[in-house]
Amino acid sequence: MATERDAVVQRLRDVGLRVTGPRMEVLQILTSGEHLDVESITELARVRLGTLTSQAVYEMLRHFMETGLVRKFERPGRPAVFELAGEPHQHALCSRCGRVANVVTAVPEPPKKGLRGWLTAETEIVFHGECPDCRKQPTALA
Ligand SMILES: [Zn+2]
Ligand SMILES: [Zn+2]
Repeated sequence: MATERDAVVQRLRDVGLRVTGPRMEVLQILTSGEHLDVESITELARVRLGTLTSQAVYEMLRHFMETGLVRKFERPGRPAVFELAGEPHQHALCSRCGRVANVVTAVPEPPKKGLRGWLTAETEIVFHGECPDCRKQPTALA
């Protein structure tokens, strides 16, 4: 039976990265499908690896991004979050807790007239609002 571990090893080999314990651990954490920041990934990885710096995790993520394994999502005013690259999708961002959710939606073509002379590389849609959990909480300023 192919385990999750085998799948992670294969992913690393596919992009030509050496298989190391820390790389395996970080990728395995991201297979949860969550969007996690460097600190959260480091904390989770330390449970199994013991000592690990967030700088080391950041370096790993950088390699993963360069090889297309991992995707980064910027959150204004908060640390960026990382996820395994997979099916193309857009995001919803909670303005209260920073939670990020995947959204599958049609992306408009860049308007030719409005972007005269531009070469657009990608289009990103972010839905800003409040997540279900935050909506249940009274507002802090109330
Ligand atoms: Zn929230
Ligand atoms: Zn995502």
